Order: sequence, then structure tokens, then C-alpha cells
Amino acid sequence: MSKDWNKSTKAVHAGTRRSQYGEVSEAIFMTQGFVYDSAEQAEARFEGAGPDEFIYARYGNPTVAMFEDRIAALEGAEDAFATASGMAAVNGAMMSILKAGDHVVSARALFGSCLYIAEEILPRFGVEVTFVDGSDLAQWEAAIRSDTRAVFFESLSNPALELVDIAGVSALAHAQGALVVCDNVFATPVYSRAIEQGADLVIYSATKHIDGQGRALGGVILGTREMIRKTVEPYMKHTGGSMSPFTAWIMLKGLETMGLRVRAQTATALKLAQTLEGHEGLARVIYPGLEGHPQHALAHRQMGVGGTMLAIDLKGGKEASYKFLNACRIAIISNNLGDAKTILTPPAFTTHQRLPQPQKDALGITPGLVRISVGLEDADDLSADFLQALSA
Ligand SMILES: *Cc1c(COP(=O)(O)O)cnc(C)c1O
Repeated sequence: MSKDWNKSTKAVHAGTRRSQYGEVSEAIFMTQGFVYDSAEQAEARFEGAGPDEFIYARYGNPTVAMFEDRIAALEGAEDAFATASGMAAVNGAMMSILKAGDHVVSARALFGSCLYIAEEILPRFGVEVTFVDGSDLAQWEAAIRSDTRAVFFESLSNPALELVDIAGVSALAHAQGALVVCDNVFATPVYSRAIEQGADLVIYSATKHIDGQGRALGGVILGTREMIRKTVEPYMKHTGGSMSPFTAWIMLKGLETMGLRVRAQTATALKLAQTLEGHEGLARVIYPGLEGHPQHALAHRQMGVGGTMLAIDLKGGKEASYKFLNACRIAIISNNLGDAKTILTPPAFTTHQRLPQPQKDALGITPGLVRISVGLEDADDLSADFLQALSA
């Protein structure tokens, strides 16, 4: 592979390991273990395995290694560790770098399970967590201390689509010696420049845009070779959150078409946002690609586009949002995102149901809020579907 290749070329070719049969489509090495030629080789393998030497599938597997190398090449990261789910990646990244007594600063606007780790699990192990409004650099600056070990945020938050300035927060964190852990799911690997913007560990739920077709759970942690192999891998390989070879194959094939899918989804998301903006039934249309979004300039600086997700807030609250959801004929009601199918989610009553009302208010999770993950359907069909559902 050439480092000079563009992302589209890397997405198709990077990381490929062909077997002696010269297969075109990547092979699925559905094996937990590997045979050694001799006792001496077994001993040597346990002393230190090279990049094409494997021991046990929890530690590594050729199909999984192909996925890790391909996504690392796309992200511009030195290395990657593939995980069983996005949450295994978030948990693995945090647990591998933290110990009792450490301090963490986290954005408040997080995916429900990420919030559970930061709010419930880390404190149980003696890690102090301070929450800030992730879009406010002054709050990050005030909260990061000399004993802060890590900062954590979603670069584009779920579901209210607030951005965190990766470069700005990284500069503040690095000045105090803290590591930057960036959950970059909503930005997608297609638009990510998180490593060059300062992130030390970048996390994806591969379940989302990487698969993009709703088939499998997966995740990945990306960073320097030193961080991935010396800090992340020991934690992951001994605690059991590794990706299965079959999942890795699905994700490898997903990477090949991810750029095409995500760019088409982004173009449709912008069209839909423009169509819906100003509709009389809506209190707000939230999309970072709209000029009226308070962080439009940051979105363009950081991602170059507005992304594949938007949110609408119906004026009539829960009753109106349920009427809208039930009247849509193309978009489906579910909770995945980044999928080929357009997916609608009412976060206040599903993904963020367990949050107390004041916390929902602070995060902009109103009863009328509907999160829209834009799929690959025709943009005019989706517009027409939403408009008829809004008038229902
Ligand atoms: C979905 C998601 C996760 C968790 O990923 P899973 O694959 O479902 O475990 C983490 N962070 C964000 C922002 C997500 O959207």
C-alpha cells in the first residue's frame, strides 16, 4: 500500500492479505487458533508475534488484522484494535488508560451507554469525572487540571448534533498532559481528520456507517502504534472484547463502499434540512450544514460538511412527534444510525429515556425531538414522505 493513496483507494485495497489461493474478496479466517511448525516456533510466537503471526483470535486474526490495517490507513492512524462493539471500544479505550485516582473531563452530551461509563462505571473504580458543556472551550479550560489523565467527548453529539472543537480541546488537554479520547461516530471516518486535529485515541462504532447496512455490531480504537499495542491491546486481548473474524469481514466489505454511501447520505441530509427548515410545524431543524446552525463554521473547519444526521423538533411535542413518526411511509422507526435505510428515533422516549427531565432539558432532548439518520433512498422521495407526515 502507498501512503500517498487517497481515501477511496485505501478503502478498497489497504490491509489486504491474500492467501496462497489469490482470492479477490478478502478471506474469512474463521479460526480461533493457529498451528505452530515446531515447539520452538510456539515459544518464539509467545515471546513476540510479528504482524503476520497469530496466536489466538482474542489476540488477533488475519481477517481482523485486514480490517484494522484498512481502517487505520483510512484514518491516518498508525494502528488500530478492532472490538466486538462500539461500546467495547469506548470501555476499552477508557479502562486501558485510566486507574484509580485519575481525573477525567467529559462532555455532557453523550450517547446513553457512553454516559453510563462516564457517570456510573468510572467513578466505581475511583476515577473522578467532571462534566462540561462540550461546545464551550472556556468550560474545558476551567475543568482540565494538572492531574487530568484524559478528556472524552463525541465530536458531534447524539442526538442534538453539538460539535466539540477537537483541535481546541486537544490543545487545552495536551497543555496539561492529558490524553484526548474522541468518539468520532457521527463524523464518520470519511470526514475525519481527528488525529491531525489532536486526538490521541479515536473510536468508532463500526455498527454505524462502516457496516452501514445493519448487519453486525463492531467497533475500533485507533491511535499511535505505541498506544494501541502497549496500552490498548493488553487490556482488550485479556478482557475479551475482540472482534470476530466474520464481523471483520463484514466491516472490511463495508469500508469499500462507505465513502460512496456517506457522501450520498450527506448530500441528501443537506437537501432534507433545507426543505424542512422553516416548516410551520417545526420549532427547530438541527443540521450543522445549515448556515443557521450555531456551529456551522466549526463544522466546516472540522469535517468539511454537515454529516449524515439531522434532527427536527416538532412544535406539538410528544403527540406531534409520534403522529409524524407513525405517518412516515419510507423512513423506519428504529435506533441504529448510518444505515442504508433512513431511520427515525425519538430520543426522549427511547435512547435517552432513563435521563431525568432536567438533564434532558440541558441536552436539548425535547419531547418533540426526532433524530433522523439519512439513508440511501431518493432525496425527493424522502422529502415528500416527511412533508406528508408533517401534515398528518
Ligand atoms: C452507537 C454508538 C456507540 C456504541 O456503539 P455500539 O456498536 O452500539 O456498541 C458509541 N458512541 C456513539 C456516538 C454511538 O452512536
